Amino acid sequence: MSLDAKPALALQDVSKSFAGFRAVEDVSFSVAQGAIVALIGPNGAGKTTTFNLINGQLRPDRGRVMVGGDDMTGRGPKALWHHGVARTFQITATFSSMTVAENIAVALLPVAASPWSARRMPTRDDKRVHSLARDVGLTNLMDRVAGTLAYGDLKRVELAIALASEPRLLLMDEPTAGMAAAEREALMALAVGAARERKAAILFTEHDMGVVFRHAERVIVMSAGRVIAEGAPDHIREHPAVREVYLGRTKAPRNASHQTGTEPRQP
Ligand code: ADP
Ligand code: MG
Repeated sequence: MSLDAKPALALQDVSKSFAGFRAVEDVSFSVAQGAIVALIGPNGAGKTTTFNLINGQLRPDRGRVMVGGDDMTGRGPKALWHHGVARTFQITATFSSMTVAENIAVALLPVAASPWSARRMPTRDDKRVHSLARDVGLTNLMDRVAGTLAYGDLKRVELAIALASEPRLLLMDEPTAGMAAAEREALMALAVGAARERKAAILFTEHDMGVVFRHAERVIVMSAGRVIAEGAPDHIREHPAVREVYLGRTKAPRNASHQTGTEPRQP
């Protein structure tokens, strides 16, 4: 990476409370251009809230959200999207009555947004539609109606839709939830391959640690709203605080008294 390369994302001391409950507290980390980074942590750690703060769904109470070196703090999802932050796997992302090709074509519309081209939808034969379909392995399903696709294939359509906006940062919150192990692996491999080709960065959450350690170049660990560890997968795997959170008291309630957490576990 060149010295003047601005990170795709930098969070600086970002905090968010819900009615006094500190869901995210003083979170700082960055994602380099083109980096594949996992955000992990037990349920309730604050991962999804962090994603919502990054893509403008939520405004931070404090701190800054920098995208490509620009301060995007407090801007909404549309502004973030225009600035290169895409998010996959929201339920509403596909039109179930349209074909795979049509879904991808619609996603390509805003990319070519000029007063003259905005209304002209790319056809199924458009080169960009084809190359996106190819990148997510859907070439042979172009004419299938999205509503009839298997779950894993629908996820691929959603990935293609997110990539259509040519993001600098792709946010994937539990992209493989509900998928079988082999499918999970295949989807992440596709996403990582497509991102590498475009020099886009990925920030993803994932419960399957095998998937995390195989694909992430860096891992950020959250617990109870804070970042408790960060580093290369090998570093994280052996990190005492991470082992504590995952092996010791994964099920402990949030904001539990400190005492409870430090008591030795019963055999
Ligand atoms: P994760 O994605 O790591 O499981 P979340 O970011 O979804 O964690 O949630 C972090 C904490 O914030 C949880 O305790 C959750 O109940 C709480 N939380 C999240 N969103 C809201 C909200 N809109 N209102 C109140 N509490 C919320
Ligand atoms: Mg979550």
